[in-house]
Amino acid sequence: MTPDRTPLLVVGHGTRSAVGVAQFAALVERIRRRAVVDDVEGGFIELSRPPLTDAVGALVDRGHRNLVALPLVLAAAGHGKGDIPAALAREKQRHPGLRYAYGRPLGPHPLLHDTLAERIDATLAGDDRAGTWIALIGRGSTDPDANAEVAKVARLLWEGRGYAGVEPGFISLAEPSVPAVLDRLRRLGARRIVVAPYFLFAGVLPDRIVEQTDEFAAAYPELDVRVADPIGDCDALADLVLQRHAEALRGDIRMNCDTCAYRVALPGFVDKVGRPQTPHHHPDDPAGGHAHHHLHGHHHEPGLRPGQVAIVGGGPGPDDLITVRGKALLDAADVVVADRLAPPGLLAGLRPDVLVVDAAKVPRGPSMGQDTINDTLVAHARAGKRVVRLKGGDPYVFGRGHEEVLACAAAGVETVLVPGVSSAVAAPALAGVPVTHRGTAHDVTVVSGHLPPGHPDSLVDWAALGRSRGTLVLLMAVDTIGKIAAELIEHGRAAETPVLVVRDAGHPGQWTARCRLDEVGEVARRHDVRPPAVFVVGPVVALAPAVPVD
Ligand code: SAH
Repeated sequence: MTPDRTPLLVVGHGTRSAVGVAQFAALVERIRRRAVVDDVEGGFIELSRPPLTDAVGALVDRGHRNLVALPLVLAAAGHGKGDIPAALAREKQRHPGLRYAYGRPLGPHPLLHDTLAERIDATLAGDDRAGTWIALIGRGSTDPDANAEVAKVARLLWEGRGYAGVEPGFISLAEPSVPAVLDRLRRLGARRIVVAPYFLFAGVLPDRIVEQTDEFAAAYPELDVRVADPIGDCDALADLVLQRHAEALRGDIRMNCDTCAYRVALPGFVDKVGRPQTPHHHPDDPAGGHAHHHLHGHHHEPGLRPGQVAIVGGGPGPDDLITVRGKALLDAADVVVADRLAPPGLLAGLRPDVLVVDAAKVPRGPSMGQDTINDTLVAHARAGKRVVRLKGGDPYVFGRGHEEVLACAAAGVETVLVPGVSSAVAAPALAGVPVTHRGTAHDVTVVSGHLPPGHPDSLVDWAALGRSRGTLVLLMAVDTIGKIAAELIEHGRAAETPVLVVRDAGHPGQWTARCRLDEVGEVARRHDVRPPAVFVVGPVVALAPAVPVD
């Protein structure tokens, strides 16, 4: 089997229309008859038979483990970005060893625009294009990017074809609605209008386009209003599906991530960025919504692609306090750029062929300058490597993670951020101290002690922290803890406030001590406490009787 003959799994959304299901099946059969690929199956993620799981099962039963999965959708919206990848992920769990390349949505594509023009011409039956306005009606989505695709297709359909004009509209969830766009064309002086459904197959929503058009036409008998057929099963569609199949195998998928609401804060959609796709309601669907909930919001399969940098929080030290996602990306890495505080056990467990760059030991002084680290990340990514930047704790808690994200972005390198278990919370916890406790502390403040109180560059309001009664967690404060304690007491913290010192939390040599706030500077000196250590200040410290009092 040559790779370009890899079996094709055509994934449809599903419809309550028997005609629509038959058209889908006919298309799958048409592609099969072409005999360009070794095997072809089609399945639906909901509403229609056969379900996706049967289609995958049939391919697996015939011995296939490598597939191209192609979402049979015109534009990437929730179905293509979320629902279908989630359904495929479930199939991968069901069939260990199953792999698939995921193809991109069908549109926009000249083959589709030509086919739309054919459907329109069929309704025109010889009447001239110049006197005809087109209302191109898409499904409509809560995803502005998908709606924008319909507007783009409207423009491309108009270019060079000689129609009076093409206006986009939507049957569901987006404006302008069918009546609104028809009224707009009427006011523009249109006498003849063809409503062209931008739909692959027959279905409940295309039927509704016909109904709404008929209502409008009845209200304006002086206008000539017609409806074209959807694209339907045809050779052009089969050609396009096979093109997308070939493209997926070349790994040449260009999703429209730049305008994706799950990635980029688009006006009015800011709350979608980075969020799981919530089950949503299609007011116009008879079903009223979707049958299942999904774990994945975004269409990017979890994983690290060549040329990407993953900034991964490694946790406080033990090699099993990294997240499952972080470990998966680490296992996929070609190059690991490790922090001084990155869990050493994780580095020891890497495959021998992985290049490990120790950011603490590279030339340029005692520790690698941030610019050098950024350059290293970018250079390896540009060389096509899967790069993991492994950090201690969480990358965004005093970890300079965001500086690296910005540097990569400036160089055009994509990043993936994986949060980690921060020592700010984990170090106290590993020593038996909760940073909050009902009735004891209702707030916790994480503070860098890198700059002492009074330092001109300090952004910390030490006076306010002195007045507060909750928990303070001080990081990078080994050298400054004496001054900090004095400052807190001066601004109102009781001298006898209990303090916890945790050094090397989670490591075999973890060391802890408890003392009073007015003693902590002296205790740190006496025990020669060195980084990494955290200091926890506040009444929660008294809750851990197991910690020895110094
Ligand atoms: N991003 C890291 C913090 C980096 S700043 C995180 O989220 O944990 C470095 C400081 O973190 C150290 O000075 C120390 O205060 C703290 N730290 C990190 N690992 C630690 C550990 N295992 N035990 C105690 N403190 C630790």
